[in-house]
Amino acid sequence: MEGNILRNSVYGPVTSRRLGCSLGINILPLRAKVCNFDCLYCECGWNAAPYVPEQHTGWKSNANEMLHVLEKRIEELVAAGTIPQIITFSGNGEPSLHPDFLQLVKGTTAIRDRLLPGVKVGIFSNSGMLDKPGVFEALQLADERFMKLDSAREETVRLINRPQAGYTVAKTIERLKKFGGDFTLQTLFFRGTFEGQLIDNTTPDELEDWFNVVDELKPQKVMVYTLDRKTPAKDLQKCPSETLHQIAEALEKRGIQVLLGE
Ligand code: SF4
Repeated sequence: MEGNILRNSVYGPVTSRRLGCSLGINILPLRAKVCNFDCLYCECGWNAAPYVPEQHTGWKSNANEMLHVLEKRIEELVAAGTIPQIITFSGNGEPSLHPDFLQLVKGTTAIRDRLLPGVKVGIFSNSGMLDKPGVFEALQLADERFMKLDSAREETVRLINRPQAGYTVAKTIERLKKFGGDFTLQTLFFRGTFEGQLIDNTTPDELEDWFNVVDELKPQKVMVYTLDRKTPAKDLQKCPSETLHQIAEALEKRGIQVLLGE
């Protein structure tokens, strides 16, 4: 399945209930997904080949070119009076894999300061590259960090997200703690089967462990959502709305803001 692969480095603005009007910046290669995860539900489809860091160190440095495209697009939007609420790094894979990720985030915030002061810059990340030099710094420069953790359990993350070798939930939790709660935890809840295995990150045991991690990390916000588009794995089902609301209520009782996507 090819999935929903973007063909532009700047796209939108698109309007969503969780983010409002968002201008997207896709710093990953156009027409191909590059990710250190291969989630069962990925909107971009399956990885064409397993992610091998050594094969991606030689990416052509295209940061200046991309920032130029972003600047021109923002100038057009300002001239048309269409002001996005947020500029969001999200696209054909994991943005922090880009060798010039820090430069791109710095450049984007500088363009924002000049042309769209007051508009936020947000980054969607799978939290799997937090030990790479410059990644934590880049994420800190953004106004919003949406950090993925779909389960507190190693075996469930392995089934759902299929991360590259070396990833562990335990290490990721330790690295997320460095944000001091200043981030949005994003968790996609669903059920299904894949290759004969039952997958459900909404069972009482799963949720108990997940809430323990939430209590440890104390994120300012949590994005609670479920499947929305076609998934590469066929037998997946949305999490029922009632369960999403129960999770949201339990978070709100803890004083955490919830971004709910049903
Ligand atoms: S982390 Fe995001 S881009 Fe990567 S496989 Fe998962 S859903 Fe797709």
